[in-house]
Amino acid sequence: MKSRTKVVVIGGGIAGCSTLFHLTREGWNDVVLVERNELTSGTTWHSAAQVTNFGMNQTMVGLKTHSIRLYKELAENPEYPINYHHGDGGIRLANTEAQLQGYRHFASMARGMDVHFEVIDADECARRHPLVSTGNLLGGLWDPLDGDIDPAQLCQALAYHARKAGAQIYRNTPVTDLTQHADDTWTVHTEQGDIDCDIVVNACGYRVNEVAAMMDVHHPVASMEHQYFLTEDIPEIVSAGHRMPLIRCPISDYYCRQEKNGLLLGFYEQGCKTWGMDGIDPNFVNALCPDDLDRIMDVLQGAFERMPALMEAGIRSVINGPITYTIDGAPLVGPIPGKRNAFCIIGLRAGLGEGGGHGWLLAQQIVHGEACYDTWCLDPRRFTGHANVELTSLKAIEDYQNEFRFHFPHEHRPAGRPAKTTPLTPVLEAEGAEFTVVNGWERVDYIKPHKDFHPSLSFNFDEAFDVIQKEVLNVRDNVGLCEVNGFNRFEITGADRHAFLDRLVCGTLPRREGRVGLTYLLNHHGRIKCEATVANLPKTDRGPERIWYGSAAASEFHDMDWLSQHLREGEDVQIKSLTNEQTILVLAGPNARKVLSACARGDWSKEAFPWLSVRECFVGFTPATVMSVSFSGELAYEIHMPNASLYAAYLALRKAGDPFGLSLFGARAVESMRMEKGFFHWKADLLTEFDPFETGLDRFVKLSKDDFVGKPALQDLVSRGATRKMVTLSLETNSAPAHGGASVMAADEVVGTVTSGDWGHRVGLNLAYAFVDPERSVEGTMMEVDLCGERIAATVIRPSPYDPDHVRMRS
Ligand SMILES: Cc1cc2nc3c(=O)[nH]c(=O)nc-3n(C[C@H](O)[C@H](O)[C@H](O)COP(=O)(O)OP(=O)(O)OC[C@H]3O[C@@H](n4cnc5c(N)ncnc54)[C@H](O)[C@@H]3O)c2cc1C
Repeated sequence: MKSRTKVVVIGGGIAGCSTLFHLTREGWNDVVLVERNELTSGTTWHSAAQVTNFGMNQTMVGLKTHSIRLYKELAENPEYPINYHHGDGGIRLANTEAQLQGYRHFASMARGMDVHFEVIDADECARRHPLVSTGNLLGGLWDPLDGDIDPAQLCQALAYHARKAGAQIYRNTPVTDLTQHADDTWTVHTEQGDIDCDIVVNACGYRVNEVAAMMDVHHPVASMEHQYFLTEDIPEIVSAGHRMPLIRCPISDYYCRQEKNGLLLGFYEQGCKTWGMDGIDPNFVNALCPDDLDRIMDVLQGAFERMPALMEAGIRSVINGPITYTIDGAPLVGPIPGKRNAFCIIGLRAGLGEGGGHGWLLAQQIVHGEACYDTWCLDPRRFTGHANVELTSLKAIEDYQNEFRFHFPHEHRPAGRPAKTTPLTPVLEAEGAEFTVVNGWERVDYIKPHKDFHPSLSFNFDEAFDVIQKEVLNVRDNVGLCEVNGFNRFEITGADRHAFLDRLVCGTLPRREGRVGLTYLLNHHGRIKCEATVANLPKTDRGPERIWYGSAAASEFHDMDWLSQHLREGEDVQIKSLTNEQTILVLAGPNARKVLSACARGDWSKEAFPWLSVRECFVGFTPATVMSVSFSGELAYEIHMPNASLYAAYLALRKAGDPFGLSLFGARAVESMRMEKGFFHWKADLLTEFDPFETGLDRFVKLSKDDFVGKPALQDLVSRGATRKMVTLSLETNSAPAHGGASVMAADEVVGTVTSGDWGHRVGLNLAYAFVDPERSVEGTMMEVDLCGERIAATVIRPSPYDPDHVRMRS
């Protein structure tokens, strides 16, 4: 066995084999995989191994497309051919209009990745799948490239090609411990000896947390028991003369594909079971859980009704095995939070279909620091401290029970709530708040007009439209108050704090005490990594001179890693997270100054406290830090307070606000207002796929600065010209917003992708942001948005249609 290598991948299922293979494809050949037993002896060997192209966003569709292309290439390679039923096709069924509308949105989104889904009616479903009955069926989404693969052969083929490129694989080599050294390299201790390496990858399937414990971390991954059975031959299949397409059924929660001349049916029963929560038997290898067909009777009945021929078919065998889930159902693929040179590819619940793509994106991140797509939807740092395995198991059960039911816009399912709250949560609930969930935090979405107000789930504007309009208009005309909890906040102290941050931001850093600025951090490829509000606080009895670094709610682990990885030896910089200690109350509207002045001592006039100022004060008797910044476009103050005295400050603000027409507003009103102002959301509009000039952030970049992270790469990108440009679109419909991912079309060509969309209540326009071909970014250019299957005319308008000169927020 080698004693030193560049990367050790731990685990030889599809996740590990794909990572190893792709590392060699990226040119790293001195790499090793260690497997405690035989390759595929975890979950992979017994997988139903369906390979689909369907995904909820473009990154998922893109990585699945990579899997399909790769598997086809492997299957056709005479050196090590494998069995891959490529292109049987598949149908996701629907029995409601809302589901079909959702499928039309996903088809629009996938089209931007050159993937062509089709929404078909019930008769067409039955024509393409002769076993299907059309009762209680409206139609479905046709995925032409659905298929299935032999999982063991696939892993062996990946291993074969990786070995051929120089990689080593050590079977029957359990990893027993991991040691990280002062220079961030690792020693992987195994039963067969030690291997020193630069980088480790955890690809341990349901044993993920056994290996995580060896590096003192814990991943939010839980396992569920999952069953399928194989039937005897079915005469209708034998006589059909073609292979049956796959079926996924959100009506009765099962999937089905052809296996020999029978069917393989897998079930997502309501009475589902977690697995391995109290530890996993070390001898559970190539093993299965006991069959329990009684558990699936509820969903089996639905499958019988959809495919009556099934009722005559005998069951050949039953498989029940552990399958891993995370809090939001998507895997954790990327850097391990708080660790250096450590990655994971875990929580795969559709690892055969996705594994090729995940290994590809992970290898790119390991070798190049970033992948070709923005991988935030897979990033292990997208959940923060609350993400423990108990919460994960609750969400896993919920996800399992809803396996094929996609989330509608504004849908937040109940399991594991409330996970993170402030002292105001029950107070706002009593005020009638409807909550949304942001990284576990319960955040006010809007205030319900009455307690039984439950808007329908759909891709159209919902019944909350008028409620949100009222909130927006009160912010425009009077003043509104909104709690923004969970906003990420780092306190950066030390003599080198400015020099350190200046190296990371691509623009100008506010230097003067009492000033605030919006800044962007780029990755080494010159594209957008982080967005931060930087505030300079003077030395007071509350602390030394310090910077407050504020960023999006879910960015805490991501940004902390990025900042701390750029600290230099001996630099006097300390970074402390205040994210869970502080909450913001936003006071916004023309009367905001009057309200603040009524409850906080001091001169809050425009002259004494102008736009982009920060000051410590008391709101009532609560110590607070106030910033004059605005996401709504109105005169606004962000008031930061310790959670312990948040309620006291809230009472003071409400009392002070009464004479000035103060009312509450929520995240949906904020969303509408920020769209009218041309303001972006990190990871909706600000992506690692685009540079700041493509994103329209020219004014935040100072190329004349000596140096900053990403500068050489950015200069290179600029010299090559923009690939896409961010534009603001006005859509000619008032029935639905444009949803992130929707394709922008010119004739039959996809010329762009929507990142965000919402109604602008102050301008009366249906607004969207989209990245489009640069030549179409000129104001006045007309295009169309494929909005859930309907072509809607859209015109490029100037950014910030509401108060374009930003007079109101600086007033
Ligand atoms: C019944 C069932 C049906 C499924 N059907 C489908 C489907 O149709 N399509 C689809 O895409 N997915 C399907 N899946 C999911 C898919 O099979 C999994 O997502 C995938 O196999 C997970 O692969 P993995 O490599 O992450 O984990 P595993 O296959 O479990 O591999 C992890 C490996 O790590 C090794 N390991 C663990 N600890 C150590 C250690 N200390 N040292 C060294 N090695 C270690 C293990 O021995 C194991 O080989 C199904 C799953 C089940 C249970």
